Amino acid sequence: MPELPEVETVRRTLNELIVGKTIDRVTVNLPRIIQKPDDTQLFAALLEGRTFQSVERRGKFLRLLLDGIVLVSHLRMEGRYGLFGKEEPTEIHTHVIFHFTDGTELRYKDVRQFGTMHLFQPGEELQARPLNKLGLEPLEEGFTLETFQRALGKRSTKIKPLLLNQEVIVGLGNIYVDEALHTAGIHPERQWNELTKKERELLHLAIVETLSAAVEAGGSSIKSYVNGQGEMGLFQHSLKVYGRNGDCCHTCGTLIEKSVVGGRGTHVCPKCQKQPRNVNRSRTTSSIESRNAVKHRLDGKSSKDS
Ligand SMILES: [Zn+2]
Repeated sequence: MPELPEVETVRRTLNELIVGKTIDRVTVNLPRIIQKPDDTQLFAALLEGRTFQSVERRGKFLRLLLDGIVLVSHLRMEGRYGLFGKEEPTEIHTHVIFHFTDGTELRYKDVRQFGTMHLFQPGEELQARPLNKLGLEPLEEGFTLETFQRALGKRSTKIKPLLLNQEVIVGLGNIYVDEALHTAGIHPERQWNELTKKERELLHLAIVETLSAAVEAGGSSIKSYVNGQGEMGLFQHSLKVYGRNGDCCHTCGTLIEKSVVGGRGTHVCPKCQKQPRNVNRSRTTSSIESRNAVKHRLDGKSSKDS
């Protein structure tokens, strides 16, 4: 699923590709993508004749600003945009097409069909679902150690599910939470209210650094993610723990382990990220990688667990 860096990359690309283009008409092939208004003909009619002014982002949502209307788009699992000439064949799973007056088309393709689009009057989108409940933007100037600590409050929740909660902080998904926690040296099952002042500082810094570096690299190409121009991001080559179960930690050489925290596959270095003493070890998943990791440990090739 695209997270903040991937959506930010799509935002930047779309800004280059579609700003200044005027919509001639809109084709909706899969009505359920359109969440607001609930009439797809009205959706199309509201967009016709409008020109894209800029593309913004709020959390993992794209805010496409047109003259007099705002389109809020969420890519969910595998939604993607592409700009094509009208003569180019339309790929399967293309659900919404914005036909421009210049003969090009912005096509929205979504194999899993989980993506959503909402139309709002300008300004209303921030006060209404789905954007009104979103938490802190980690790459904006207002994201200081102070605002971060205030947003998380005194919660006794495990840190990983807390960071995944979009009402607390936006844009972090499974990949970047695992990466940021590893960078900060914090185990995902630690409780927020038990982190030391130093650990909170390290975590705040790690979130900013991880997301910034991923944005620089154009996001991570995990499964089918590509940006708005069909290009792959490169940050997957820089991942330290995510998807590396059974491989060595770059810092200490210990094998990265995969377990389940808060229902999500979670990657940690058991040496760099000490587990809290009062928590039972989560079962390692039955993935081949994890079995290999266990086998390697049994072979005595790696370190002890705490
Ligand atoms: Zn390590």
